[in-house]
Amino acid sequence: MPLYEFTCRKCGHVFEELLSLADVQAGKVACPACKSKAVDKGFSSFATSGGDGGHVHGGGCGRGGFS
Ligand SMILES: [Zn+2]
Repeated sequence: MPLYEFTCRKCGHVFEELLSLADVQAGKVACPACKSKAVDKGFSSFATSGGDGGHVHGGGCGRGGFS
């Protein structure tokens, strides 16, 4: 099961939950601090914050580009 990272939109609390994607999509995630279900999902294994973007490029732009 993947480990997801969530940020609560209400109180700003950041927490991690071990859930299936189905649970996440079903909206079963709630902030442990304030019980709000208004949470933003991240995925701790990737640095993508935009959702399904097809970002499978290896390089990254402008990093170490000292030419
Ligand atoms: Zn909260």
